[in-house]
Amino acid sequence: MTPQDVLKMIKEKNIKMVDMRFMDFPGLWQHFSIPAGELDEGNFEDGYGFDGSSIRGWQPIHASDMIVIPDPVTARIDPFFQEPTLVLICDIADPVTREAYSRDPRHIAKKAEAYLKSSGIGDTAYIGPEAEFFVFDDIRFESKSNRASYAIDSVEGIWNTNRDEGPNLGYKPRHKEGYFPVPPMDKFQDLRTEMVLVLQDLGIDIEAQHHEVATAGQCEIDMRFKPLLQMADQLMWFKYVLKNVAYRHNRTVTFMPKPLFEDNGSGMHTHISIWKEGNPLFAGDKYAGLSQMGLYAIGGILKHARAICAFSNPTTNSYKRLVPGFEAPVNLAYSSRNRSAAIRIPMYSASPKAKRIEFRTPDPSCNGYLSFSACLMAVIDGIENKIDPGDPLDKDIYGLPPEELALIPSAPGSLDEALQALSDDSDFLRKGDVFTDDAIEMWINYKTQKEINPVKLRPHPHEFMLY
Ligand code: GLN
Ligand code: MG
Ligand code: MG
Ligand code: MG
Repeated sequence: MTPQDVLKMIKEKNIKMVDMRFMDFPGLWQHFSIPAGELDEGNFEDGYGFDGSSIRGWQPIHASDMIVIPDPVTARIDPFFQEPTLVLICDIADPVTREAYSRDPRHIAKKAEAYLKSSGIGDTAYIGPEAEFFVFDDIRFESKSNRASYAIDSVEGIWNTNRDEGPNLGYKPRHKEGYFPVPPMDKFQDLRTEMVLVLQDLGIDIEAQHHEVATAGQCEIDMRFKPLLQMADQLMWFKYVLKNVAYRHNRTVTFMPKPLFEDNGSGMHTHISIWKEGNPLFAGDKYAGLSQMGLYAIGGILKHARAICAFSNPTTNSYKRLVPGFEAPVNLAYSSRNRSAAIRIPMYSASPKAKRIEFRTPDPSCNGYLSFSACLMAVIDGIENKIDPGDPLDKDIYGLPPEELALIPSAPGSLDEALQALSDDSDFLRKGDVFTDDAIEMWINYKTQKEINPVKLRPHPHEFMLY
């Protein structure tokens, strides 16, 4: 799509509003609209000014005056507004220098893709995320059949949410058995189908949808792999569509990684492969059908995993998911098939085109632009420095004796630890100026001040039960 195509589309589809979308640093879409007649070709170069000072992660000193520059290839018609509205995802620039803003996550993703090309390793990084999520009753219509939505109101609810369900116990999946009996146990087929149809209408390819393991409405919808930036853009649509479809049915979708105590959390397993001139580079004759390059890629991710977590698992709640016993990986090891390892090499298909690595640590609270870019930079570092991933771990890590387990490095235990790891290990991210010093330092300060400290300093409801 060119600017001319967009203007033509506006006429043909009788578009009334054009909605400019961009994401704050944590990854939430922001927007403002202009009447469709106001848009002309020049706006795709000159952009639109706005006040960037109240956007999370952007500091007033840098950012009070910013411009958004719409990217015509991202044009899609919004499925939710009453009047026909065209959405354009935008890049952020400084109004004076016209330079791309170093804290624009989309700019970081573009730089990561450009760095891959300039490295000569490959031309395309394909990403396939499996985002899991919970569907809860909307707080406006809370019913006794789903305590999770108001667990925060009750001390009892916090430590016993899904065992204390209130009256409706009929056709409920048993604990950890949500994966995946048919209805009436699965109550979300129609809702997920509606989500899938809206996503498909937006041009997003969907491979599967299903209920997940946790009993209280945990679901998964899988998108077909796409190049990194395109997938990061799609993930914004994905979260937006799921939340808005649910909202229309008086439900709430959350991508919070661990909303329920003692039940499975939501991960966003991230499948990664590198291609050059149409050829998949991770397929070969080494372990699990990988190439030597694929093994080095694993070496890079395992080496930098703790720092990557600052972007792939960026919330205090993320670390409540990364504990043993809930299918979430804790130990930084790799294996084919073994789902207790942080990296799995799926063996479903013998086709070289399907050969990829599955990094299971990330969760859907992350900003896709940042998480995918951090993963790609670790992969590149592994390949450039021929980082040996060591031996695979083809046993159930959860069943290992403690002496053996102690030898395997583990994911950070908290967001503080992940930020510390990022501050100790960020050279691989700074290559090609993909993540700037400014972006990394801002993230560490932002997360510490706005999230870690406020959570740490509050008495926890469970402390009242204990003390
Ligand atoms: N929910 C699990 C996680 O947290 C994954 C479950 C699965 O897809 N096998 O990663
Ligand atoms: Mg899956
Ligand atoms: Mg899953
Ligand atoms: Mg998976």
